[in-house]
Amino acid sequence: MYFDILVIGAGPAGLAFSAMTADMGLKVGLFDRQSKDGLAKPKNDGRDIAVSERSRKIMYGLGAWQKIDPTQISPIRAAKVMDGDAPFALHFNPESAGADKLGNIVSNHLIRRALYNVAASKPNITLFTDAQVTALTRTASTATVRLEDGSTFTGQLAIAADTRFSQIRRDAGIKANMHDFGQTMIVGRMAHEKPHNHTAYEFFRYDGGMAVLPLNGNTSSIVQTFCAEDAARFMAMNNADYARATEPRLKGLLGELECTGKRVAYPLVGVYAREFYAERLALVGDAAVGMHPVTAHGFNFGIQGVDSLVKHLYRAHKAGLDLGNMKALQAYSHDHRRLTWPLYQMTEKMMGLYTTNTFPARIARKAALHGANIMVPVKDALMARLADIPVGKLLAKKLPPPPRLPRF
Ligand SMILES: Cc1cc2nc3c(=O)[nH]c(=O)nc-3n(C[C@H](O)[C@H](O)[C@H](O)COP(=O)(O)OP(=O)(O)OC[C@H]3O[C@@H](n4cnc5c(N)ncnc54)[C@H](O)[C@@H]3O)c2cc1C
Repeated sequence: MYFDILVIGAGPAGLAFSAMTADMGLKVGLFDRQSKDGLAKPKNDGRDIAVSERSRKIMYGLGAWQKIDPTQISPIRAAKVMDGDAPFALHFNPESAGADKLGNIVSNHLIRRALYNVAASKPNITLFTDAQVTALTRTASTATVRLEDGSTFTGQLAIAADTRFSQIRRDAGIKANMHDFGQTMIVGRMAHEKPHNHTAYEFFRYDGGMAVLPLNGNTSSIVQTFCAEDAARFMAMNNADYARATEPRLKGLLGELECTGKRVAYPLVGVYAREFYAERLALVGDAAVGMHPVTAHGFNFGIQGVDSLVKHLYRAHKAGLDLGNMKALQAYSHDHRRLTWPLYQMTEKMMGLYTTNTFPARIARKAALHGANIMVPVKDALMARLADIPVGKLLAKKLPPPPRLPRF
């Protein structure tokens, strides 16, 4: 069976890519090892995703954002990054950059469901469920996927959207930098006594970080990072004990806590592919860049990368070129690297500082946070990216008005 494009993995990246290329009039074969029910009605996986404004616009353009119940979307009005328990905070106030919020929080399963519904409504996408891809073979003119049951499908281009541990990436011989942080992240929703005022908090600590993602009402997604041993201990607690053990870690910020959602543990591994393409193949989503969740950028980079790849493929297709056109794939790879590499590196360095408790590391992390607070342009540039404010508008707001020239 022949398709223009073969997409391996129907997570957020694979679904978004399939929907966008289907809109170009292309015939898409989308393969996932999960069942149809698993994809159509994804279970709550405990992840609450901070969606940047740019990603929201891409989802809106696809018709996916409109499919999310607005009561399940919570705005982030400000953010504070704290160095351990010290009173100092790096404060992100979007108003200073001319925006009313930094982004929105939505549960991952609702994002997946919305994107699935969009993809499922496109007649030129054929979805194969319970379809484990076991091999991808590529020639100068075609890409062919083989499923576990032996069936094969051929197209002009294959897309690997098959998680950060991508087998397709590995089989294509694309190397990846992998960083096992040796830590586990526990996520879960909690109701609390005090209001969060829609402020997100990030506490960097040597013994494991914490984050508070504000949801509607007096509820937040509480994210905690531990070494594997502590994570096992915290996961084994009942809800009441877990809430009591979490309260002091927040230093009374939210008052009394009560678990309202299920708790899920994620081992932390960061991945950065050395290349995002090969002959007849492109990597998207976590298969290209698997971020540490602390910066809340994995999904955002995924959907923005997909948007960029589709734009380059569209240009090639319009010019009558083959979809496996190397120049288009190179251009995507170049753009996506420029978007992702600085933050990936910064996250690696920051997490390195917070897993080393030497005196120089303590000084360095204080200097990093204080420095970032002083360097207003750096902070504003970060905010502008989250809130999707054009840099020109931001600069115009910051620059003093031009001097009045005397009239002659
Ligand atoms: C705790 C946590 C919190 C996070 N918070 C944020 C946040 O706030 N903001 C943010 O931007 N990001 C966040 N992320 C990251 C975000 O969740 C991921 O980046 C995103 O889900 C990756 O999407 P994906 O489509 O690339 O991969 P996945 O969602 O992993 O989907 C991959 C799909 O491929 C399928 N598959 C794999 N191999 C095969 C195969 N061989 N054959 C067929 N199918 C296959 C799988 O079944 C799966 O459906 C967070 C992550 C975690 C763990």
